[in-house]
Amino acid sequence: MTLLLEGRPVARAILAQARDDIAEFATQNGSTPSLAVVSAGDDPSAFAYARAIERTARSIDVRVVRVLLPDSVMPAEFDDAIEQLNRDDGIAGIIVLQPLPSQLDKTRPSEIVAPSKDIDGTTLVNIGRLSAGSALLVPSTPAGGMEILKYYGIPVEGKNVVVVGRSLVVGKPLAMMLISENATVTICHSRTPNLGEFTSRADIVALATGKPRILTAGMIRESTVVLDFGVTMDGDTMRGDADPGVFEVAGAITPVPGGTGVVTNAILMRNFVAAMRESIC
Ligand code: NAP
Repeated sequence: MTLLLEGRPVARAILAQARDDIAEFATQNGSTPSLAVVSAGDDPSAFAYARAIERTARSIDVRVVRVLLPDSVMPAEFDDAIEQLNRDDGIAGIIVLQPLPSQLDKTRPSEIVAPSKDIDGTTLVNIGRLSAGSALLVPSTPAGGMEILKYYGIPVEGKNVVVVGRSLVVGKPLAMMLISENATVTICHSRTPNLGEFTSRADIVALATGKPRILTAGMIRESTVVLDFGVTMDGDTMRGDADPGVFEVAGAITPVPGGTGVVTNAILMRNFVAAMRESIC
């Protein structure tokens, strides 16, 4: 029987702790700072993500300041808007949603968001700190995957883990987190020949490619644990990176939707709490 690694109970546990922490902070300090959610242009996926973050934030009594920049925003204006939020003592956390309009460099937020307010944990400074093993604010998506493993009691120490995908937001930081927990990690990517040769030897396979069906049933063993970070819209249907046949074979797997994605927002809130506490130190 394949164990479904549902994200909702994991997210609930993280958010319950965050809600208590926010309430305690408010009691001790009289008020709490806000979270800034920034987007530029009118991409519907950024709006949908903003609404989801706002819902999660509201559920734990965190105020959200929504910063909507026009589609025509120029790089200097974008930088100014972020710098203003960096300097604002009433804002403890900032997240900039992708995609950004084409005149902006999509990696710019990772350079200019203040690392102390970077609740997505993806600024270059925080990625560097993660590599050094001293991160306070960690990349939210891979951290969510690690929380799922922990919640379901799946050990990583000494395990052979294959991470498919090497982006700075999912694959690479996930590999770093796994190494910190003493897993043996292989990173595969689009130039890896014979992906199945690697995945068929893995205890845990983490998928972060955005290529549906990249992992099929014949590429894993019966005990393999699959963490699927992939999100691809097929009409109204959301698909992960794993082929549906993998659900018949894997030892355990995160569903899409309802798996890793659900936990990402909860980690954002946990990071917000950490940033908020740091803001008064
Ligand atoms: P990305 O920047 O496009 O990176 C995709 C990675 O997949 C790249 O490293 C690429 O290799 C690799 N890849 C592409 N085709 C491959 C193939 N045929 N075989 C092996 N590797 C292949 O994407 P991302 O931002 O990391 O996101 C990955 C997925 O996670 C997307 O579906 C995204 O929507 C989803 N996501 C989910 C969450 C969540 O909350 N669950 C959050 C963020 C992203 P190269 O480096 O060689 O190009």
